[in-house]
Amino acid sequence: MSDTDTHETETRSLRTPIVAVLGHVDHGKTSLLDKIRGSTVIEGEAGAITQHIGATAVPLDVVSKVAGKLVNPDDFDLPGLLFIDTPGHHSFTTLRSRGGALADIAILVVDVNDGFQPQTVEAINILKQSQTPFIVAANKIDTTPGWNPEMDAPVQQTYEAQSDRARSTLDSSLYELIGELSDAGFSADLYWRVQNFQNNIGVVPVSAETGEGVPDVLTVLMGLAQRYMREDMEIDVAGPGAGTVLEVKEEKGFGTTLDVVLYDGTVRADETIVVGGMNEPIVTDVRALLKPRPLAEIRTEDRFEKVDSIAAAAGVKIAAPNLDEAMAGAPVRVVRDREIEDVIEEVQAELAEVEVSTQEE
Ligand code: GDP
Repeated sequence: MSDTDTHETETRSLRTPIVAVLGHVDHGKTSLLDKIRGSTVIEGEAGAITQHIGATAVPLDVVSKVAGKLVNPDDFDLPGLLFIDTPGHHSFTTLRSRGGALADIAILVVDVNDGFQPQTVEAINILKQSQTPFIVAANKIDTTPGWNPEMDAPVQQTYEAQSDRARSTLDSSLYELIGELSDAGFSADLYWRVQNFQNNIGVVPVSAETGEGVPDVLTVLMGLAQRYMREDMEIDVAGPGAGTVLEVKEEKGFGTTLDVVLYDGTVRADETIVVGGMNEPIVTDVRALLKPRPLAEIRTEDRFEKVDSIAAAAGVKIAAPNLDEAMAGAPVRVVRDREIEDVIEEVQAELAEVEVSTQEE
């Protein structure tokens, strides 16, 4: 980029990569997300994870605290990881951004005893098609016969401490899984043996139950994002916001609201936005931007906190008039100082792409 390209008001910044979780039913997607959130929630502590609307932000210092000596925070300048709270293929395939997947990176969860199942294959195909980088979480290692768990330990540490028998049982399950990945066209290996994550899939043995390997999952995601996605994470954080609708929801006192994952720019509480609708793009003015209240402060009828603005990457609830025809998966754009017609066209073009890709499924 030359200097003349840099607009005066432009504020380049690195956003948080967006992470999605996929895999076969019952293989532990929800448990793994819960574990990641649970292991890092320390109520009231500075630099803890923050709950967004529909997503959870794990800042770099939490990753580094959980990962211990696996991560040196000085090696990173990305701010952390933003996990989409709803796991599964449906949310992955309907959530797009500018034609690609909304998620920058994915965790494919596979029950290490169960191996590839129909939805695992489906997920692999989706990841392949959307060219989304991913890691494989080989989950439920604690169910290996004779396993002696060490809560929340890095996986190599707990692996070394197991009996020969437990280790070799786990090894054979892991190698079977690596074989299945290879049959699916992916060269894969245990993550600590992978040199180049662009050509090889890193397999992380983990237990969503005991937390073993969770430090490794965070480390590998963070490393992958930093190494291969940093450029894509560069945004003009003060620019007009762009996001994707996660959900359209009735909310008491606010009417129909949008849960949005913002992946670019900023949205402010008084701005005009264009949202993809069932028939045509909806042009409306933001009435309120809402964040979840911190757990400790939640009173039943007052779950949300109003904010003046929010910057990518983030999950936010937008209250505005005329949202009844808005759709999950649709694009959201802040108009700001642009021609409204141009923004409408942009949203229309993107909607056409979303529709084509949903028909393809
Ligand atoms: P999802 O359908 O992929 O979201 O799977 P869930 O997270 O709901 O997990 C399915 C079942 O497996 C639940 O009963 C979990 O408690 C259990 N489970 C998930 N992960 C683990 C694990 O690492 N170890 C053990 N022992 N059980 C697990």
